[in-house]
Amino acid sequence: MFDISESNIIEQGEAGELFGSEDQSKVRITRNQTEPNLIVDGVDIIEIFHESSNRFRVEYWGYMSGRLWLTRDGVSELKQSFLNDQEEIPGWTLSTELTELPDWFPVPESLPSPVICNECGSEVSVTEVVTPWSEDTKNRYCPDCWSSVREDL
Ligand SMILES: [Zn+2]
Repeated sequence: MFDISESNIIEQGEAGELFGSEDQSKVRITRNQTEPNLIVDGVDIIEIFHESSNRFRVEYWGYMSGRLWLTRDGVSELKQSFLNDQEEIPGWTLSTELTELPDWFPVPESLPSPVICNECGSEVSVTEVVTPWSEDTKNRYCPDCWSSVREDL
């Protein structure tokens, strides 16, 4: 699951009532869906919670949902699988602010830089850019340009 070694998965479970409290330290990773016409089945959001020094709970949901308990090394593997994407527009992004990243979560080596809107030339963050009809994400619009382009269709 999520390219994590069996030995780092302590337990797997069904999705249930979310029992993380709002103020519990957690890290959220979100699927970066930039293609508005694509329907993705799978997982959209992953949250990692600290339970003890070597036990972390992962809640994931979307089309598929469930939970996992990982060792600390498992958390590193999870980060590798989701946040080491070197594409200009990565498939997954960290939703937790770096300043709020708990010390038990490994800091990503690099963070994606903004890209340029093809229409107006302004910078747009990789989580807001819209990349319609492009397998290779060459069509890039900021949200404003995308709404006018879409109306003209
Ligand atoms: Zn634009």
